[in-house]
Amino acid sequence: MPNLTQISTIKNLLALLDTRAKKSFGQHFLINEHVLETIIKTAQLDANDTVVEVGPGLGVLTQELCAHAKNVIAIEKDADMVSLLPQTIPAKNLTIVHEDALNFDPTAHSPYKLIANLPYNVATPILQNFLTSTHPPTRIVVLIQKEVAEKCCASPGDMNVLALTIQPYAEPHIIATVPQQAFYPPPRVTSSVLLLEPRATPLLTEKTAPVYFSLIHAAFAQKRKTLLNSLQKILSKEEITTLLKTEGISPGDRPQHLTLAQWLAIATLFTTYAPSQQP
Ligand code: SAH
Repeated sequence: MPNLTQISTIKNLLALLDTRAKKSFGQHFLINEHVLETIIKTAQLDANDTVVEVGPGLGVLTQELCAHAKNVIAIEKDADMVSLLPQTIPAKNLTIVHEDALNFDPTAHSPYKLIANLPYNVATPILQNFLTSTHPPTRIVVLIQKEVAEKCCASPGDMNVLALTIQPYAEPHIIATVPQQAFYPPPRVTSSVLLLEPRATPLLTEKTAPVYFSLIHAAFAQKRKTLLNSLQKILSKEEITTLLKTEGISPGDRPQHLTLAQWLAIATLFTTYAPSQQP
């Protein structure tokens, strides 16, 4: 099998396809063996695992996944990569799916782990889709932009929509920082290995989730404004005051200061308190 951590190998394969690394597909191939080892170690793979990989590219991570897991389902949007992969990785336990990962339905492969060097331009919606699906992964290890990884891990004082979207479904941990030179071609930003451990029972239900998301989206759409001001898009002043006071939150506070538990509590209260207003 070709050594895909070597730039010369990557260049040769791309030349063979008469192509280049495509910006539009967020193609930055991993060339650092140490980072590869970190991802595999964090994935805690055993011989019974099914792995879903998004964006296998030339297959540097796919090779390792095939060696450590029972099955690997690799979802790739770029037809060039799809045509090359069976040659770079002749593994019998690899299934290549030519599809946009945003449309992928993991149901048939559950239980599975999601392990990937994600295309950065769609990393956030991909993580959201998998986490909120009816069949979420049992473990997620991804390489993503450092800033995005840090946002996922945010705590009160610094809360944001992404953290509040991820954290009801999974516990985030940053495992390693990965410099630009770990990729060919190097991206403009530093990356991180992010571990998401999905919760056995998500903190949102089908009933509370729509209310929760309409509340945080309204609040963070104008995050410099007080909760009393921003939430008036969906509630009356009196309703906001009553709702927040019940949880001991000042209507003059800003959304980034609230804890996940407080947002969940407000959403639960709102579900019972103002049923006519629900989305
Ligand atoms: N895993 C490889 C490549 C990472 S680059 C490595 O580490 O070297 C990101 C990969 O995701 C590319 O192969 C790109 O073609 C693919 N990709 C981009 N957008 C995608 C999408 N929406 N669905 C599936 N794959 C996508």
